[in-house]
Amino acid sequence: MLNLNRDVVVVGAGPSGLTAARELKKAGLTVAVLEARDRVGGRTWTDNVDGALLEIGGQWVSPDQTVLLDLLDELGLKTYSRYRSGESVYIGADGIPVRYTGDSFPVDSATAVEMDKLIALLDGLAAEIGPTEPWAHAKARELDTISFHHWLRAHSDNEEACNNIGLFIAGGMLTKPAHAFSALQAVLMAASAGSFTHLTDEDFILDKRVIGGMQQVSLLQAQELGDDVVLNSPVRTINWSVNPDGGSPESYRVTVVSERATVNARFVIMAVPPNLYSRVSFNPPLPRRQHQMHQHQSLGLVIKVHAVYGKPFWREDGLSGTGFGAGSLVQEVYDNTNHGDVRGTLVGVHFR
Ligand SMILES: Cc1cc2nc3c(=O)[nH]c(=O)nc-3n(C[C@H](O)[C@H](O)[C@H](O)COP(=O)(O)OP(=O)(O)OC[C@H]3O[C@@H](n4cnc5c(N)ncnc54)[C@H](O)[C@@H]3O)c2cc1C
Repeated sequence: MLNLNRDVVVVGAGPSGLTAARELKKAGLTVAVLEARDRVGGRTWTDNVDGALLEIGGQWVSPDQTVLLDLLDELGLKTYSRYRSGESVYIGADGIPVRYTGDSFPVDSATAVEMDKLIALLDGLAAEIGPTEPWAHAKARELDTISFHHWLRAHSDNEEACNNIGLFIAGGMLTKPAHAFSALQAVLMAASAGSFTHLTDEDFILDKRVIGGMQQVSLLQAQELGDDVVLNSPVRTINWSVNPDGGSPESYRVTVVSERATVNARFVIMAVPPNLYSRVSFNPPLPRRQHQMHQHQSLGLVIKVHAVYGKPFWREDGLSGTGFGAGSLVQEVYDNTNHGDVRGTLVGVHFR
């Protein structure tokens, strides 16, 4: 068992925890990162399956992820554009695949009008409410007490338009069905991406990939941190006090107990998803409302299916590999061929 003394202890070696630790170390503080698993990267994981490099978790970067883009530069990582030339495929309410080009789904004109109307409404709300304090807006309560599914149907009686607009947030971003989150959460998601229109544009949201895989962001940062990252060491208990011995800023205020290391530190950063906080015993307990908030936050459920072929045969047929079908088992498909790979990879995304 390691016994360490540090300025800051970070729980979780995903991209957030490692970035925080590296920044603090650059600022001259001592750090330790405790990670439950036998690898870093959390929900970003680049693995080799049967000789094919596959990105099992997060992989795409959009132009508005400016902090991530700067970090990629700093770490010397290069990006490449997702393959997007050619026609895409849309499967609408009738279940028949239709080839199309351009930004809009090939729907009938009445559905197109309804989709444009809903997008304009959501763009307006996103601009008005903004990403920083959605709860403070006069419309917050109204929008937070109706599901996105029902909000869409309150504004349009075109089922295909509602399903397509729902897909941009439910499938693409929050990975849970549109009845499982509020209209306010949908607006917040749009506002944090700059606009709802951005979410409807896969060439914006799924713009770039990292050569060699997104997990490198974590691997390279962990390499710099060296022995300060402790793997296979789930944190079980955090003993903390606000003012242990008269408030000296130098005094240790937390003791974090994990499987392989106990760390005394001045501060702790929890860089784990909020629904996992309850796996850690806080002593004294966290404030009741904070505890409840963590318990009530749910993450989505998404499955990525990769199919690797000898070559990207769809390109010869003039297809981009992009496909959408809000009512299909796999709602989105993209060309996920790796940089410089002669093989072709399609990735299908299914959420529930
Ligand atoms: C399938 C999928 C696809 C995605 N696609 C994209 C995408 O294309 N673009 C994009 O920007 N984002 C995408 N994301 C989201 C992105 O992966 C996450 O936003 C990102 O990984 C969050 O980083 P994090 O460090 O906050 O948390 P995580 O990556 O979840 O890291 C948290 C770490 O904490 C560890 N941990 C948990 N509990 C403890 C404990 N008690 N003690 C010690 N360690 C603990 C975990 O093992 C984990 O390593 C995707 C996510 C998934 C699942």
